Amino acid sequence: MRAALLRWYRRVRRDMPWRREVSPYRTWVSEIMLQQTTVAAVTPKYEAFLKAFPNARALARAPEDAVLKRWAGLGYYSRARNLRRAALEIVAKHRGEFPSSFDEALALPGVGRYTAGAILSIAFGQPHAVVDGNVIRVFSRLFGLPGRAKDPAFVEKIWELAAPLVPKAAPGDWNQALMELGATVCTPDSPSCGACPVSKDCVAFKKGIQDELPLPEKRREPTPVRWSCLWIERGGKLLIWRRSDKERLLKNLWGLPEAGRLRASAGRRIGAVSHAITHHALTVELLEGSLDAGAELPPETKWVPLSKARDHLVSSLWLKLLKAR
Ligand code: SF4
Repeated sequence: MRAALLRWYRRVRRDMPWRREVSPYRTWVSEIMLQQTTVAAVTPKYEAFLKAFPNARALARAPEDAVLKRWAGLGYYSRARNLRRAALEIVAKHRGEFPSSFDEALALPGVGRYTAGAILSIAFGQPHAVVDGNVIRVFSRLFGLPGRAKDPAFVEKIWELAAPLVPKAAPGDWNQALMELGATVCTPDSPSCGACPVSKDCVAFKKGIQDELPLPEKRREPTPVRWSCLWIERGGKLLIWRRSDKERLLKNLWGLPEAGRLRASAGRRIGAVSHAITHHALTVELLEGSLDAGAELPPETKWVPLSKARDHLVSSLWLKLLKAR
């Protein structure tokens, strides 16, 4: 089964920039970007990011805002912050090179068991397993295991299953083959079992229950959130607000000030958008705002030229709102 899957992967694997040239740094950046983001969205951003920050030293030297700007559109901005913090540690503790020890990799900000396993297997050829949504689905079907992909006990069971299967000779290809199979053949809906290189070993296929595994998730309704934000403009400049790390959403990112957080009055409505962020359904309205006479601005605000506003408002929520204005 392993040989068949590896042969298939080497024949059909999709061309991706991080597969053309492999290095620990390149694999690390790609793995962080690919968490919760599609290959299609990551590909153009990855090239530009690598050009701006070709190695850990360049990334560590860059100011946080410059890194966030390159991350714009990918969402989950804590990943970009952690990437930079990890680069600082790599420079300070590992002479600028991504560590080849699993425990040292795991100690870096933003690097969990999956990411450490992926980087060490792909870029260092070490036999570590990886388990992501694709691998959970493939193993659930291949071994006929009923379970929910988000159930921690089931996920742990898949890790236990995955670890001894990793071949010492080609751990990176094996891990990528499993993920590639899940992404292109053993897809969530209507898997293409007829084109699957491991169908003759697949329990779910033999029983005809491939559409029933893994078990469906319990539906979770998104939490509704409403914001009213102010558009405060003065002399060709826009007032922006840095959200604190205590905020529920878009922590530590520049945005438009919410009404009620400044001594300002709100006027007519000039735009509104709906936007989804990690299980939250936001409805954001944009109101013309003007600062009250003598109002002092808090330190988390600043004026930026209107033409530069997009450089600071990196979340796609703000870009959508700017367009709706
Ligand atoms: Fe998935 Fe079908 Fe292949 Fe089984 S035979 S691993 S269900 S694609």
